[in-house]
Amino acid sequence: SRPTSTYLPPVKLEDHTRSARHSVVGRPTPPIPEGIEGCIGNTPLFKIKSLSEATGCEIFAKAEFLNGAGGSPKDRVALNMIQMAEEEGLLTPGHGDTIYEGTVGSTGISLATLARAKGYRAYICMPNDQAKEKSDLLHHLGATVERVTPAPITSTEHFVNLARKRASEQTASGEDASKGFFADQFESTANYLAHFKTTGPEIWQQTGGQIDAFVAGAGTGGTISGISMYLKQEMGMAGALRVVLADPDGSGLYNKIKNGVMFSNTEREGMRRRQQVDTIVEGIGINRITENFEAGRELIDDAVKVTDEQAMKMARWLVEKDGIFCGSSSAVNCVAALVTALQMPKGSRIVTILCDSGTRHLSKFWKKVAESGMEEDDEGTDIIAVLGIR
Ligand code: PMP
Repeated sequence: SRPTSTYLPPVKLEDHTRSARHSVVGRPTPPIPEGIEGCIGNTPLFKIKSLSEATGCEIFAKAEFLNGAGGSPKDRVALNMIQMAEEEGLLTPGHGDTIYEGTVGSTGISLATLARAKGYRAYICMPNDQAKEKSDLLHHLGATVERVTPAPITSTEHFVNLARKRASEQTASGEDASKGFFADQFESTANYLAHFKTTGPEIWQQTGGQIDAFVAGAGTGGTISGISMYLKQEMGMAGALRVVLADPDGSGLYNKIKNGVMFSNTEREGMRRRQQVDTIVEGIGINRITENFEAGRELIDDAVKVTDEQAMKMARWLVEKDGIFCGSSSAVNCVAALVTALQMPKGSRIVTILCDSGTRHLSKFWKKVAESGMEEDDEGTDIIAVLGIR
């Protein structure tokens, strides 16, 4: 006989043979999405039990890795950028139009996925020092990938500037009247507006407006700006909600929030030489102020600096205690959420973001965790001590 689960009742065959319009559960069923783009948004919010117990607060995670197209909050952004471009006539499906973007990861994956679903081509420019698994994935999604030598943002060869150039080249070529659309996630307002229109309202609804702090890192700044604008400006929480930036090693944003300047002169020289933020964490931490960060900058109340070691230890802890296998930026967010909780009254409710799954970070972040010997360690029972906070 079929094994039965105590949680899920066995499905009766006849349930599936009824008319689709006749709900077997006796109440109206939600509409079934038309295509993969219908699987974006409405992600769950859940309590991270171990961190809540450790702090006496309630720490909630918005499970953005469950966005159903590209598996990150960038699905919302990519969809909004495409929809806004269609409304403005910058993209028309089925005309050979191409979406161009400069990206090191998640946004390219979301754009390449949605381009396929909506009848466009995708052309992604990325630095050639990024994990190869990302460009492989983009190839499998059918995108054209141009990998370039890292260059300063002021150079025409920087991957973002190159994507802009390639887009205008296609539009200008005029041969088949197809258009090139430069998505421009760093500067386009469609980015933070996606979070203002969807992620912010979802968090508001899921918490019933009972939220004392919101904690997130910034790559383009779209997430932290869009959600903060919705909660503080649209829902009038400006006096009640504390917004905290989570920032990895090497990023200038922490200083910008704390002291108003990004880098000292010596640090700026170091940044110029390296041309990138010096951290193992991918997706957050930048050394310039983008339009999307600037849009919400004044709404950010505080910042927490997180070391690579703390991020790795948190990632290990979340697997071991909560069964959460996340990527590096999610781990940074969780460290900063924990630090924030310790600064707030007991019982405070704190929301943060789990951006993507650890499976995107196997060859870099999780490899480093394995090499560090942390996986063999008994992590102990006190996360605050494990991270060396207090
Ligand atoms: N986490 C990951 C893995 C990302 O790729 C990004 C975007 N670069 C972020 C977090 C940060 O999001 P945002 O660009 O909205 O600041």
